[in-house]
Amino acid sequence: MPKLKAIFFDIDNTLFPTSEFTVLARKRAVRAMVREGLPFGEKEVYKRLLSVVERYGSNYPKHFDILLRGYGIKRNPRLIASAVIAYHEAKKHLTPYPDVPGTLRLLRRKGFRVYALSRGVDVKQWDKLIRLGLHHLFSEVFVTREKDVHFYRSVLQRLKLKPGEAAMVGDYPRIDVLPAKKAGFVTVHLMKGHHAKDADGRKADFQIRAISELPVVLK
Ligand SMILES: [Mg+2]
Repeated sequence: MPKLKAIFFDIDNTLFPTSEFTVLARKRAVRAMVREGLPFGEKEVYKRLLSVVERYGSNYPKHFDILLRGYGIKRNPRLIASAVIAYHEAKKHLTPYPDVPGTLRLLRRKGFRVYALSRGVDVKQWDKLIRLGLHHLFSEVFVTREKDVHFYRSVLQRLKLKPGEAAMVGDYPRIDVLPAKKAGFVTVHLMKGHHAKDADGRKADFQIRAISELPVVLK
């Protein structure tokens, strides 16, 4: 087996509990709008916000506008601004899973190159890494629209890594394990959150419950 040289980490729900943060941030945004005069209950508004996010995608920039329009409110910059502020203020609570910074440092000391590899919008993903205080630990950060086999292959090519010399670690087997494995990565399924029990996770080379298990698993 070739010697492992590089370890790639998914960002969301792998380095930090993204889903929990998103719930918190959205709830605070809703509370702010209600406090500033939106005449509906927080629970009701939160539910509506979720359906807007589902319909327009999480990276759509105007969720609050659409939400208000749904209530027949044409444009209310006061409500929108208060929601946006509350959402961004919540980002102050972004912290990595407690074992992540130490494990990344340990892997680097052991001579591995460490990378972030994530699906999403590049500036948003960098924003998360910087707020988490993790960005300086990665040799490079790869952000893509689609985590498919072509993308994984292109990353290996760019870094001149051969199959078996790179590992991919992530929480979502469908995009972190299956295509990465096809491209020649050693794959690690982090069994946390919504996808902890996905059947595809068992196709990973390793399944772990915490990032701190990595140095033992990837010897
Ligand atoms: Mg993820």
